Amino acid sequence: MHILHTPEALIAYRKTVSGTIGLVPTMGALHAGHLSLVEHARDDNRHVITTIFVNPTQFGQGEDFAAYPRTLDADLQKLADAGVDAVFTPTPDNMYPQGYQTYVTVEHITQQLEGAMRPTHFRGVTTIVNKLFNLAQPTIAYFGQKDAQQVCVIRRMVRDLHIPTEIAIIPTAREADGLAMSSRNVYLSGEQRASAVCLSRGMMRASALYHEGERQPHRLLQAVADEIDNEPLAQIDYIAVNTARTLAPIAVIPDMDWGRGDMPNDDEPLLLSLTVRFGKTRLLDNTLLPHHLNTRAGLTQFLGAG
Ligand code: AMP
Repeated sequence: MHILHTPEALIAYRKTVSGTIGLVPTMGALHAGHLSLVEHARDDNRHVITTIFVNPTQFGQGEDFAAYPRTLDADLQKLADAGVDAVFTPTPDNMYPQGYQTYVTVEHITQQLEGAMRPTHFRGVTTIVNKLFNLAQPTIAYFGQKDAQQVCVIRRMVRDLHIPTEIAIIPTAREADGLAMSSRNVYLSGEQRASAVCLSRGMMRASALYHEGERQPHRLLQAVADEIDNEPLAQIDYIAVNTARTLAPIAVIPDMDWGRGDMPNDDEPLLLSLTVRFGKTRLLDNTLLPHHLNTRAGLTQFLGAG
């Protein structure tokens, strides 16, 4: 496995390979969710490049950039075992040298949900993803459903900037009790970890109601909120219903001004997403409604499809 530390080294490596290339961007602290992206990339492509970079520009002031878990040696072992061809692991100075001043911004869908909570986050994401695409020139790039708004923002950027890379969306990998895998789960205390199952439990309740025919967005939101309110350690940041294709806002708890929209027709797939705090740790999760769309094919057809 090639381990590349600088943009120049990745450019040089890229010139030596031909055939399809799968790119899996990550911030490291790898878990089975990341490795599921790598497996899809391995199955689809001749070469797989994974990147490990805790990208400073997507963290806001007071967020966990310095504390973010860094486990490079273990990550490299997992990627070697998974058959990855090259790992790109640059330093912030390599990616943003002195004098750096260029950013990529997707304007509208970045203003709500995570973007409303973290105003500079998506600008950091689209900038680094653009840079990684320029360096690796991938045939297909792999992103997780776990960060559903990120997928929508990247798909929008790819369409808007005519980037010749296909975007694959891989369903969220979960722990046995339903908690979505996340590098940030290590921040949870034992008690917080036990109550964190309320996110997936709440989404399952809403999915079941949807399946029974419930289409009132506030009833779906309330079903999730009830589960989370049962857990004293959990504090809701927001629970939202948007259209899956365009992220048009339909309803949100608490009622913020970015959450007022009309219910689309009954068959329009929806994205139910939520962010819940346990102490300082924010956990994200989401599901498409109806539930059977939470597959690579269903996500690709609907999530952020335009
Ligand atoms: P991160 O290292 O957290 O930036 O994540 C790197 C990629 O892995 C992103 O595309 C994430 O959406 C994806 N990812 C993170 N957690 C999961 C998960 N539990 N299941 C599937 N993909 C995930």
